[in-house]
Amino acid sequence: MTANDHHQGLLRAIPKMDELLDWLTGEAAPPLADSLKRASRVLRKRAVRDTLAARRQAIVDGLLTDAAALAPAALLPEIGQRLEDLMRPNLRHVLNATGVVIHTNLGRSPLPAEALEAILRVGGTYSNLEFDLDTGGRGSRYSLVEGLLCELSGAEAGLVVNNNAAAVLLTLSTLAAGREVIVSRGQLVEIGGSFRIPEVMERSGARLVEVGATNRTHLRDYEAAIGEHTALLLKVHTSNYRIIGFTSEVALADLAALGARHGLPVMEDLGSGSLVDTSRFGLAKEPTVREAVASGASVVTFSGDKLLGGPQAGLIVGRREIIDQIKKNPLNRALRIDKFTLAALEATLRLYRDEELAIAALPTLRMLAQDQREIGQRAARLKRRLGKQLSGRCRIEVVDTESRVGGGALPEQGLPSRALALRPAGMSVGELESGLRRLTPPIVGRIEDEALLLDLRTVSDQELLPLAAGILRFFAPPRRD
Ligand SMILES: *Cc1c(COP(=O)(O)O)cnc(C)c1O
Repeated sequence: MTANDHHQGLLRAIPKMDELLDWLTGEAAPPLADSLKRASRVLRKRAVRDTLAARRQAIVDGLLTDAAALAPAALLPEIGQRLEDLMRPNLRHVLNATGVVIHTNLGRSPLPAEALEAILRVGGTYSNLEFDLDTGGRGSRYSLVEGLLCELSGAEAGLVVNNNAAAVLLTLSTLAAGREVIVSRGQLVEIGGSFRIPEVMERSGARLVEVGATNRTHLRDYEAAIGEHTALLLKVHTSNYRIIGFTSEVALADLAALGARHGLPVMEDLGSGSLVDTSRFGLAKEPTVREAVASGASVVTFSGDKLLGGPQAGLIVGRREIIDQIKKNPLNRALRIDKFTLAALEATLRLYRDEELAIAALPTLRMLAQDQREIGQRAARLKRRLGKQLSGRCRIEVVDTESRVGGGALPEQGLPSRALALRPAGMSVGELESGLRRLTPPIVGRIEDEALLLDLRTVSDQELLPLAAGILRFFAPPRRD
């Protein structure tokens, strides 16, 4: 038999697509994994076709020379893998063991059950999104949360858009397009993901007038810059960076008084915008939204998914005439919030009517409020679960560490926490890190001092078992037979 005959023989030995499909669902084949049983015939066909095409190519390339590799049972693992890849969603649940509570790359705030239920209630049916049930006429989607926003912030009126970047853009565009906005040089910040105050300002059509120095700006600097083209005084929360040493900033109340004297509105971009006093979690004092409003700001913008702990949204509260103007800006239509977000936001805001309830129910606040001892107990439980099974393969110890609030708010502020430090034998810490990251569900930790740290502040009680199971699976993968 010539090499060519052998080659042709192999190509002929490739099973027929339909036969293989029948075999796959028939009695002879080992049962499919549970996760693959739900695959439709169309997907199964695609996995089989792609597997066969890959084998054909391998024969042509001279990489496959043994006909045994073409038996249905030998093809099964690859078909299974392809089906799994086809069915796995791109956006997936991740175990966040980084200790960063508001982690933008990992989806910021996990929603409370109340918000998830609200999405389920209205997402799959019709709703009164823009329908006034009293009059039978057209309603406004904004009215669904405006009352709550006013109640919780003390403002006269409120509006919600897609995110805080949109809130800032829309507010600047409404109040200051073609005119000047005065901002301190110390507040011309870039917030991750390319949100830069000077650039947003440019897009809004407003002209930036910088005053003061990077580290110090005084009230007289703002006052000297006020002229006939001035439209707005803006204060920006510097969120993700801090100037320390010889510094001074003008308090919002002083800026508001200056604005009032000159008949100019004053805006504060609060960024995170908490509705509760963060000092009760042992964090630095951050002005709450209510305090910003009470200080005399004409308009305040903040995010829905940072310290608020709700869905992605940009919240705008302030004086009635300003909010009315913003609502009429055509740009508003392009930035509008959708029904799922509104449902989740309303449910989140309702929780804040009772602050204790909000802290108990909102995962973001609950994680911030946990003390080190409570987190340490979880770390110890996880260590016990992994304990003996990993002996010799990975050194495990419970260590003190610092979690981060994240999300631009209080960025440098550490929260005393406990983590499991993993030091694997026979592989690098980097390999362990990337291996855990590729699991289902992926486990994301952080490398520190030649160890992989799993900070238990951001891992819930319910996630502890899947976390342990994932680590054990990584070190001792189940045999595939
Ligand atoms: C986070 C932040 C923004 C952007 O908010 P998004 O909700 O992410 O769009 C704007 N300004 C400040 C001060 C921030 O901290």
